[in-house]
Amino acid sequence: LHDITEQQKLENMRKEFVANVSHELRTPLTSIKSYAETLLDGALEDRELAGKFLSVINSEADRMTRLVKDLLQLSRLDNNQMKWDMQKISFEDLVRNCVEKVKFESEEKNQTLECFTIGEELEIVADKDRMEQVVLNILTNAIKYTPEGGKITVYIGRMYSEVYVKVVDSGIGIPREDLGRIFERFYRTDKARSREMGGTGLGLAIAKEIVEAHKGSISVASEPGKGTEVTVKLPAACN
Ligand code: ADP
Repeated sequence: LHDITEQQKLENMRKEFVANVSHELRTPLTSIKSYAETLLDGALEDRELAGKFLSVINSEADRMTRLVKDLLQLSRLDNNQMKWDMQKISFEDLVRNCVEKVKFESEEKNQTLECFTIGEELEIVADKDRMEQVVLNILTNAIKYTPEGGKITVYIGRMYSEVYVKVVDSGIGIPREDLGRIFERFYRTDKARSREMGGTGLGLAIAKEIVEAHKGSISVASEPGKGTEVTVKLPAACN
């Protein structure tokens, strides 16, 4: 009986995933199609309007590209087809590099973005590009889900045999009942709003898989209306 329920659960998850993928792909397609039709029906003559419609088509196509890219990566992770390029690197350099990359986005929202390093011996053995992807995802979430003028603080440090990065934001936070689920594929706390932000809802699911492939862990703490704290811990490299 136990096996059947487990199997049933997996089957339900698979069905839900397929339904989600279909929905996520159909939404931008529907909008691309209807704007293209309106253009063909004559809207093309109004240059200003045509420009607006084309830019919607363009960004919806971008969204589909992001989604397909994320899906392909998840599938590679699921099937153990990822080729990991593991190297000993400085976790501090990696994180600070990511912070530099998102600086512009936070400045556009007048947010304070600060980074502190606590302690030393912060080397890890990791696939640099994949680990950057994880840190960038957490940082861009912090920026996305923190209003104008908010504050984002990044701590890099070491605790015993682990190095960590902790990204603390003063943003909208995550409702308690959603906390355990945000690492699930396609899970968004406020679907409409998160979708408007351009996310695929797959970022944290992918991040978790990558971190776990490095024998690390990722966790989240949050208080709605106050902010969110996402922590990644990774085994420190042996010297
Ligand atoms: P998305 O692409 O939608 O951002 P993610 O997988 O990166 O997807 O995140 C899943 C959901 O978790 C988001 O849609 C958002 O609702 C919530 N979330 C993630 N990070 C934060 C944060 N720093 N503050 C508030 N909510 C967050």
